[in-house]
Amino acid sequence: MLNTHSGSTLGSSQLKLRSLEAVWHPCTQMKQHEVIPLVPIVRGKGVWLYDSDGRNYLDAISSWWVNLFGHTNPSINAAICDQLEKIEHVMLAGFTHEPVVALSERLKEIAPGSLGHCFYASDGASAIEIALKMSFHYWQLCGQSTKNNFVSLQNDYHGETLGALSVTDVAIFRETYAPLLRQCTHVPTPDWRYAEKGESSENYAIRAAALLENYLEKHHAEIAAFILEPLVQGATGMGMYHPVYLKRAREICNRYRVHLIADEIAVGFGRTGTMFACNQADISPDFLCLSKGLSGGYLPLSVVMTTDEVFQAFYDDKTARAFLHSHSHTGNALACRAALATLDIFEHDQVLDGNKIKAAYLNNIALPLSMHSKVKNFRNCGMIWAFEAETDDPDFAAKCFQAGLQQKLLLRPLGKTVYFMPPYVINEQEMDLLIDGTLRVMDAL
Ligand SMILES: *Cc1c(COP(=O)(O)O)cnc(C)c1O
Repeated sequence: MLNTHSGSTLGSSQLKLRSLEAVWHPCTQMKQHEVIPLVPIVRGKGVWLYDSDGRNYLDAISSWWVNLFGHTNPSINAAICDQLEKIEHVMLAGFTHEPVVALSERLKEIAPGSLGHCFYASDGASAIEIALKMSFHYWQLCGQSTKNNFVSLQNDYHGETLGALSVTDVAIFRETYAPLLRQCTHVPTPDWRYAEKGESSENYAIRAAALLENYLEKHHAEIAAFILEPLVQGATGMGMYHPVYLKRAREICNRYRVHLIADEIAVGFGRTGTMFACNQADISPDFLCLSKGLSGGYLPLSVVMTTDEVFQAFYDDKTARAFLHSHSHTGNALACRAALATLDIFEHDQVLDGNKIKAAYLNNIALPLSMHSKVKNFRNCGMIWAFEAETDDPDFAAKCFQAGLQQKLLLRPLGKTVYFMPPYVINEQEMDLLIDGTLRVMDAL
């Protein structure tokens, strides 16, 4: 008889076995767990995760890029506990509450440009669906019914629901789900790794932008929006590019009356060194999608921020002209409080300045790693570091993950790309452990 008492503490091996029976884990070939054990986590503190066997791991990838200020952060915990005593959740149609109002006003203040209208959902992919639908619907409302396609970048990732997957460029997904997806054009990526030998990242980005312009010049009448991951193309391997591309993309989208959707789900909230990646090109998109770090990584929450121009197109006496999209947990009060507590930390602790010092420290101690014989393209943008491992081993990612655990590191390479995206609370001693451990991992593989 299984123990089903919620909150019970299971033994480590029992937890692993029962998880494999009952939980279908994400992004996982379940059969591989016949040989690779699950890691049962019982608690976390700061950058550290602790498993039920008493081992600890430095969360070098912020638990899939969501965590900003460490696990069980005292001030975020306190904010959620306080909110829990007031109201945990109430529907956001016909009702409102202080956390969602306060969060929307603060996001408006810090977001680039004038993105004064916040539409909430619970995860990144849903935010992408909302931005795509809103853009399409806007053009319908403006009588431009031919504008119903989207353009994205080669190697972009926008999530895995069907609409988001249509604008995502990951071969394995595109092939498997092709019959379910919309046709979408992917214009060449400005990722500097694709530059000609000797070509600067800036010149390459300018050349890539010219190809975007060629495309929109011909097809703008059918295109509702251009969607991109600003500065860092995360999920397909931390491809980094020059901000001039964003500047050009904004100009080109204006010229051809195409919306610009900035998917800052991964890069928003300081990851690239500025609060938002768009800040580095001094541009503002028509739609800004945020999630992951929005709630400090605590609770599922996402938001699409847009302009007054878009909002006004839907503002009408007729219900049918409204944006009738909904999610059950839209604007969840607990998640909004976690987000407000997260923004408080940014404000009070001068996080962006502190991160510059941390990034400089890590770049300095990472010199031996960047020169390691099996390390290629070592690169950094804000609080993101990445390199490619020189290897022909098709199982590199799984082996590196295992070897990382041996060094008390949670690393989860994307193919041959090893990356660090640590919580911002990481200290110098922890950065030393991260680099030393990764060097040992690369030596061993
Ligand atoms: C993670 C991610 C998404 C999807 O967010 P989910 O919450 O996983 O659905 C979309 N876009 C980018 C750039 C992401 O990194």
